[in-house]
Amino acid sequence: MSSIRQEILQAIKDYDRIIIHRHMRPDPDALGSQVGLAEVLRASFPTKEIYQVGGPVEGLDYLAEMDEVADHLYQGALVIVTDTANSPRISDQRFEFGERLVKIDHHPNDEPYGDLVWVNTKASSCSEMVADFALSFPEELVVNQAAARLLYAGIVGDTGRFLYPATTAHTLAISGRLLEYGFDAALLNRQLQQISLKVAHLSGYVYQHIEADDNGAGQVILPQELLEKYGVVDSETAALVPLPGTVDSILAWALFVWQPEGYYRVRLRSKGPVINEIAKRHHGGGHPLASGANARDLDEVAEIYSEIQDLCRRFKEEQAAAPEN
Ligand code: AMP
Repeated sequence: MSSIRQEILQAIKDYDRIIIHRHMRPDPDALGSQVGLAEVLRASFPTKEIYQVGGPVEGLDYLAEMDEVADHLYQGALVIVTDTANSPRISDQRFEFGERLVKIDHHPNDEPYGDLVWVNTKASSCSEMVADFALSFPEELVVNQAAARLLYAGIVGDTGRFLYPATTAHTLAISGRLLEYGFDAALLNRQLQQISLKVAHLSGYVYQHIEADDNGAGQVILPQELLEKYGVVDSETAALVPLPGTVDSILAWALFVWQPEGYYRVRLRSKGPVINEIAKRHHGGGHPLASGANARDLDEVAEIYSEIQDLCRRFKEEQAAAPEN
């Protein structure tokens, strides 16, 4: 077993107060890893103070809610941040006020903040890492049903229900072990999957307005008037992101979502071409096949789409040039 896990366990044992953070605009993996870990620590160390902090949970309140933590509680505390590659994206910047900082993440380690850094880019999700961590110290850490449910939700969320390439035999084995805790997985899967009627209607728009080129680039732009017409806000658009990828000819795509501050949130996905370099060039980052960025206006939106088009063209050319195997 990696010694970094032992070092993290030792740090947890050393502190009476532990405050756990995750990234802004949380998804099920951010909350699952953060609060799943919090539940494991509460069950394992009933006398320690364990807090989960961050901004709004954006429609995921069936998974978890956040604690209010006064500034002074950071003094002498251990802070753990899950699922967050870069420190500016940590929700609640008071993470710096603790005594010791631990980073647990599965994104490329572009910014190795923290005194202890455990990054595994091969893990399907940060929740898989936390589940691995919790299950690898059976004498010392207790996984209960609440923790298992949260960690399972994070894995299901980040793998698109075990669909995306980061899903491994180990992901399925860990998920199987979590299922043994007996939470209602069918209900949880429904909760993770369900959308409102207005988002269902907007999905129709998305399918009808996919713009795609011959090399497999795709895009959909959701402008202000459209979001207002459907009464949908950014935090409700997560379910729309995978839709262009269901089209057989599309290899890499972007969903551009207008924000009340005037810029566009960019959500990039791919079935092969590596898109996180594009994300990094536009104030973002993420995984090779799933990243996010920001475009200040429609000109930058057009620039990003053109970069996706170039990427897909080069990808196709490389594939065509590669010897048959
Ligand atoms: P999203 O499209 O928001 O679901 O994000 C997909 C992936 O990219 C997630 O793993 C995010 O953590 C990452 N990501 C999204 N936006 C950013 C950003 N602005 N900076 C760095 N990483 C991001």
